[in-house]
Amino acid sequence: MRTVDEHQKIVAGLIKARARQRLPLAETLGLELGADVVAPLSLPGFDNSAMDGYAVVADDVETATPDTPVLLPVAEDIPAGRTDLLTLNPGTAHRIMTGAPVPAGATAVVPVEATDGATDTVAIRAAAKPGQHIRRAGEDVTAGTTVLGAGQLVTPAALGLAAALGLAELTVVPRQRVLVMSTGTELVKPGIPLQPGQIYESNSVMLAAAIQDAGAVVVTAPMSVDDVETFRTTLAGHAGSGDRVDLIISTGGVSAGAYEVVKDALADQVVFGKVAMQPGMPQGSGTVGGIPIITLPGNPVSALVSFEVFIRAPLRAAMGHAEPGRPRLTGTLTQGVTSPRGKRQFRRGVLTGDSVSSYGPPASHHLRWLASSNCLVEIDEEVTEVAAGSPVRVWDLS
Ligand code: AMP
Ligand code: MG
Repeated sequence: MRTVDEHQKIVAGLIKARARQRLPLAETLGLELGADVVAPLSLPGFDNSAMDGYAVVADDVETATPDTPVLLPVAEDIPAGRTDLLTLNPGTAHRIMTGAPVPAGATAVVPVEATDGATDTVAIRAAAKPGQHIRRAGEDVTAGTTVLGAGQLVTPAALGLAAALGLAELTVVPRQRVLVMSTGTELVKPGIPLQPGQIYESNSVMLAAAIQDAGAVVVTAPMSVDDVETFRTTLAGHAGSGDRVDLIISTGGVSAGAYEVVKDALADQVVFGKVAMQPGMPQGSGTVGGIPIITLPGNPVSALVSFEVFIRAPLRAAMGHAEPGRPRLTGTLTQGVTSPRGKRQFRRGVLTGDSVSSYGPPASHHLRWLASSNCLVEIDEEVTEVAAGSPVRVWDLS
């Protein structure tokens, strides 16, 4: 039997980052930059006004006060977006809006609030310091500067900067593409009436959500009946077609019974075995056609807990997250619990502040408690009983 730690290492070793790629800005949020971003232009790109007001020569309005305004003819009107290059003659003013290019020769902008706002001859009621309310070209970014570093994660603000620099694409480590495939002849899609002995399929939507939540892209294959040829055909049809997937996750068909379709179909490519844990004991890992595959057990609680324990962190690490794992903390257990000797137990829990309650039975088919828990309580292999009030390790899933 493998330990949890051993299986974690094996799975982590299978999941590899994609080659970096240039992608449109809108597809890069949260991804790791694969290259430094060097500014192709300066920001601001040209001297522009920081206020709505009047561009003037500062010396011309030196004596202006509310009682002794300086009157200047308004020679031009410059809204933001005006593209012709203007020159301000001394003794005149240009009405100018925020973000509009400051005309050559102007040395200050007087805010509209310090004027009468006129469009023919303006009364300027305050003196202006040279350079006042002018945003200088390059004072934010000088062309040629490295503004974002390889390895940084793309944030909304980083996207804003890239767009301001006129970049349409960024070089990033792309999202992992993960194929999810569930197996079981008893499974029926929600929405279709059940026959006796059938159940609704729940793993694929649950794992797809967990994969998306981890920042990866999901490709969902149709569920397979417990027939080796059907399983192989479905797998081959989805793993390699179109944009190749980086990882395959299957559920079901890996335990010790008969009709274990995943085990039977992949005996040559996947190592199937037991991991000393509860829930989630039957596990497998390997590669199919060069693509890593993790075969999870079919019980829904086992499947999701196994995803959390083995797959989520290396998947996020492969997308550049420096701290890919769930936050771990020590909680105080509110009630006594037992745990099987020799197995790492992951109980579902509810964490409130520092105090944690085990929530629901430890067996692997109790979806109801899983759905309203917010953490996993991890109990070591050698521990068989934990008393109320004891410290326990908690994985915060919230
Ligand atoms: P298996 O690992 O295939 O033996 O399945 C173990 C248990 O999980 C059985 O009770 C299955 O019916 C159930 N199960 C397997 N796959 C799914 C699934 N995709 N959705 C819901 N239950 C499942
Ligand atoms: Mg099955």
